[in-house]
Amino acid sequence: MFTGVASRTPVFLIAAVVGAGCTHLSPVAAPVVVKRAQLHMGTLVSITAVASTSDRANGAINAGFAEIKRLEQLLSTWIPESELSSVNASAGKAPVHVSPETVAVVRRSLQVAEMTGGAFNIAIGPAVDAWNVIEAQRIPPNDELEALKARISLGGVHLDEQARTIYLERAGMRIDVGGIGKGYAADQAVATMEKAGAIAGVVALSGDIKAFGQLPGGKKFPVGIQHPRREGEVLLFIDLQDEAISTAGDYERYFDHEGVRYHHILDPATLQPARGCQSVSVIAKDGVWADGLDTGIFVMGPARGMELVERLDDVEAVIVDHEGHVHISSGLVHRVRFPNEPDEKGRPQ
Ligand code: AMP
Ligand code: MG
Repeated sequence: MFTGVASRTPVFLIAAVVGAGCTHLSPVAAPVVVKRAQLHMGTLVSITAVASTSDRANGAINAGFAEIKRLEQLLSTWIPESELSSVNASAGKAPVHVSPETVAVVRRSLQVAEMTGGAFNIAIGPAVDAWNVIEAQRIPPNDELEALKARISLGGVHLDEQARTIYLERAGMRIDVGGIGKGYAADQAVATMEKAGAIAGVVALSGDIKAFGQLPGGKKFPVGIQHPRREGEVLLFIDLQDEAISTAGDYERYFDHEGVRYHHILDPATLQPARGCQSVSVIAKDGVWADGLDTGIFVMGPARGMELVERLDDVEAVIVDHEGHVHISSGLVHRVRFPNEPDEKGRPQ
């Protein structure tokens, strides 16, 4: 029997600090903090803005949501008219002209693929469909997966940056930026909010979070990483400033069958769910790197994954391996706090 389909949020913004969804107006000309949430990209998106007035904060939030909506229209493979849907529909037929944003996401995706030795692969779509973890909950037979391998080869993805076209060389190929697009959207939303006059803020698309500036009073934006096996519990806390965090976990979308967990992050080498980790959180300057790398490192596993993190500048990670052991990169060990550990002012978390 199949049991236990789940979809959970891997990173929490700490509500006590950023406000519980309401507007705070200060009596003097202190900055205000406004937080609002909407559904986009199939997930709950919450945006917090710090600005000189609540009108300005709300304007920045509106601009952030509008940008995410605009990107969803370009990148979502659930929207038949999106640019990526056109690219997929033209697989094996013709290159498709796309916007600079679509070029940017696909270029970054190919870079992450190279960094992770092919563990991150945006052409994995046909295998993700074969598993269809949320709806079908079936284990595809090996010969079915084997037959898909030619279609998930990244060598068949041709990005021409000059001409701004993408061509998938085989019929039946499809690209899906589900493993990197939310991080990119968080970056773009932050840039839009800054232009609209926000002094600081946070954009959180479920587990993909990008923070800029500081809260009034000079505090950074605290986030909690979800414990991968204890629902609703925080594994550890970290404060962010001008940084992004993204978490990939085997508890976000999965089903259990005869005691084995089948989840949505596939190893391109086997087309089976990757088995080395329970969760991977990556911190980087940009959301696009954090998001692409969390998925790629999840597939690489804790040892090779942490090796990669240590080699990269400005990239840190928390990896929970398949036995539940927590590995923290060298640049992060002094920045994390565990629940029940007092914060920097000696207060309990
Ligand atoms: P994330 O939550 O960022 O780890 O992204 C998960 C999504 O990425 C899945 O729902 C798939 O659409 C896609 N995906 C699964 N496996 C891979 C992979 N090996 N490389 C790139 N994307 C993947
Ligand atoms: Mg990802």
